[in-house]
Amino acid sequence: MNFHIITIFPESFDSYLSESILARAIKDKKIKIKFYNPRDYVKEGRVDFKPYGGGPGMVMKAEPVIKAIAKAIGKKKDFGILFLSPSGKKFDNNLAKQYSKKFKDIIIISGNYEGIDSRVKKVFKMQEISIGDYVLTGGALPAMVLIDVISRQVKGVLGKEESLEENRISSPEVYTRPGIIKYRKKEYKVPKILLSGHHKKIDEWRGSH
Ligand code: SAM
Repeated sequence: MNFHIITIFPESFDSYLSESILARAIKDKKIKIKFYNPRDYVKEGRVDFKPYGGGPGMVMKAEPVIKAIAKAIGKKKDFGILFLSPSGKKFDNNLAKQYSKKFKDIIIISGNYEGIDSRVKKVFKMQEISIGDYVLTGGALPAMVLIDVISRQVKGVLGKEESLEENRISSPEVYTRPGIIKYRKKEYKVPKILLSGHHKKIDEWRGSH
């Protein structure tokens, strides 16, 4: 799976992508992440300007973003474009599964400031995606959420144990050693069933927690 990120702040992705499962997936070439910075397509002046009609903040200009998207598309045929926006379709695991099956290349457009000139959405066919009912200061975190969740669906990204876990009955309640912990004279124990070795009952317990 190839992710193509349109962003004016590519460095903000560095720390997250250089750790743990995603770093391993990149190293193992299970996923590839490329950045396209609209600033590179500004001939003169700025990448942003005041909004028409007035109002606070700055809006990212359409043309540098369009050029960055065109560069990301290149000669590709099998690609999807996702435009990050707080008012887009709500992202979830099902969408992630669909995208991972449908596309080899996913272009993610990450906005900043007051967003991107809306004409970009008219130039290319794209899906507007929101990661939740709140407004973040920029699209870097939402883009990383998409990369993370979609990558989990790509074969070989999760290790053997992790993908086994994905397909098993899992529970939001998990425990590890030691069996008893103490805090302010009170003891907290691991549920007995998890120590029983009875896998069928453990699965039943996990399904109900
Ligand atoms: N006034 C803009 C609007 O309502 O779209 C808000 C822009 S927000 C400050 C800057 C950028 O962050 C957006 O262009 C988008 O890329 C990203 N963003 C913020 N919240 C988001 C969310 N919940 N889901 C997806 N992207 C989001």
